[in-house]
Amino acid sequence: MTNPTTTPGSDTGESLQERAEQTLQAHAARSEHQLHELESDMVGLLGDSGTIQEDRDGSRRLIESVRADLERTRRALARIEAGTFGQCTKCREPIADARLEAIPEADYCTNCA
Ligand SMILES: [Zn+2]
Repeated sequence: MTNPTTTPGSDTGESLQERAEQTLQAHAARSEHQLHELESDMVGLLGDSGTIQEDRDGSRRLIESVRADLERTRRALARIEAGTFGQCTKCREPIADARLEAIPEADYCTNCA
């Protein structure tokens, strides 16, 4: 982990994309951790013959939603790598800064969402 330092002579601070990248990386790390924990729990549930089906279904749905969230976050990080971050993946128009500030992993602009 590198220690982020502010660039001398720059009083505007980090760019939206730099902040988004940090947010997304932290988000991905959290999701990966959560997914790992949920999958461990799932193994525990499967091993327990007294577990009711609804518990397992609930865990599976939660795992799927965390996994989808992680995928979305990874796609946004890939767009930063590719230099297309902030571009709507549907209409190719730029996504509003305010939207990216709120949802850095957004795939679509407000029109397409
Ligand atoms: Zn769009």
